[in-house]
Amino acid sequence: MDNEPRPQVDRATSPSTPQDTPRRAPPHGPPGAAPEGNGDPLLVQVQRPLLPDARAIAAYLDRIDGSRWYSNRGPLLWALEERLYTHFGVDQHATVLLASGSAALEAAILAHAGAGGIDRPLALMPSYTFVATALSAMRCGYTPYFLDVDPDTWMLDPEAVAAHPMLDRAGVVLPVAAYGRCPDMEAWAAVQDRIGVKIVVDAAAAFEQFERNPGMIHLEVPAVLSLHATKTFSTAEGGAVLWRSFKGQERVGRISNFGMSDARRCETDGFNGKLSEYHAAVGLAFMDHWADRRAMLDGVAASYASAAAAAGPLPGRLRLSPDVSGAYVLLECDTPDLADRACAALAAEGIGSRRWYGRGLHHEPIHAGHGCDPMPVTDRLGAIHVGLPAAVDLNDAQISRVVGALSGLT
Ligand SMILES: *Cc1c(COP(=O)(O)O)cnc(C)c1O
Repeated sequence: MDNEPRPQVDRATSPSTPQDTPRRAPPHGPPGAAPEGNGDPLLVQVQRPLLPDARAIAAYLDRIDGSRWYSNRGPLLWALEERLYTHFGVDQHATVLLASGSAALEAAILAHAGAGGIDRPLALMPSYTFVATALSAMRCGYTPYFLDVDPDTWMLDPEAVAAHPMLDRAGVVLPVAAYGRCPDMEAWAAVQDRIGVKIVVDAAAAFEQFERNPGMIHLEVPAVLSLHATKTFSTAEGGAVLWRSFKGQERVGRISNFGMSDARRCETDGFNGKLSEYHAAVGLAFMDHWADRRAMLDGVAASYASAAAAAGPLPGRLRLSPDVSGAYVLLECDTPDLADRACAALAAEGIGSRRWYGRGLHHEPIHAGHGCDPMPVTDRLGAIHVGLPAAVDLNDAQISRVVGALSGLT
């Protein structure tokens, strides 16, 4: 998620450098780039994605060369959607692929709730999430209003939302499956029914939860996945709307294609949210080895668990797959102070760590003017959750190094 472009050429200090020549590696580095710090790239970078290599993608790229169909819902995108709906065992319209998780969120919000308006300007959402949740709501014309989360689930409590005083000014509610934990889709559908405000679930990191229980793909409430490189199932950039509603998915398709109908008339609000054939190629190659990858992710979680069991006292407990997404290894520290010391101890060993959701969105400058409930739980979770190195190819020795750096910190 640390994927924002950074300026790479400082012209003031290097007048002779050609303008567009990158002088430094981008933050996540090209494969094989020397990382900053003193060690192993798999540990320096808190997350080091591994997508299918060029050879694995090549056969699919040949098909693009043959078809000369590069985007606009081409054959590779159909093939990937078919792999997904077959994998989940749902109807073919229930898994629509889009250009990113954010695009999928925006298309699902517009398709289900419509754009924000003066009567109901607010989008209720947790503060404990990645920044994209609120930005997507804003792009759909809503003003974010932040709610605190439940201390056990780290997610919005459906009953608290149903009783919330801001509900009569809300046009949409955006629960988030924090760290890919399992959202209670049935509870959200029941609450949506009662409150009459549309609900769209940001389940960006929850691919494995829907894989485990495809019955969660709902008729009434859309859920959105991100297929970004840092998530467990990836097309490098991509997203999906999981929704059994045929009519709803038709709207998602239209909205993500400039609001155009089949007759090429621009009928509704929309934007370009389409996934290219090249990204679909990555996803197909990814799917070819998904079972192996799942096993490797399970192995990483098991190795962390046994390293933690063998180590001296840790500053908190590990939260691992299948509780959270395999894309994350979280250390839930006993106190904020221990979390700060854990980060420092890791940094001293050249090991990366990250507060994935920062301290909560209500601390982000862009949200300074947005409404917000008291945030005791979010403030605490943001202070005690530390993301540890997570990569599909971490080995036992590397994991022992991470756990060793933490052991004895109490
Ligand atoms: C990854 C993520 C997103 C954004 O997805 P993109 O595919 O990067 O646009 C949104 N919300 C949450 C909770 C995420 O983890």
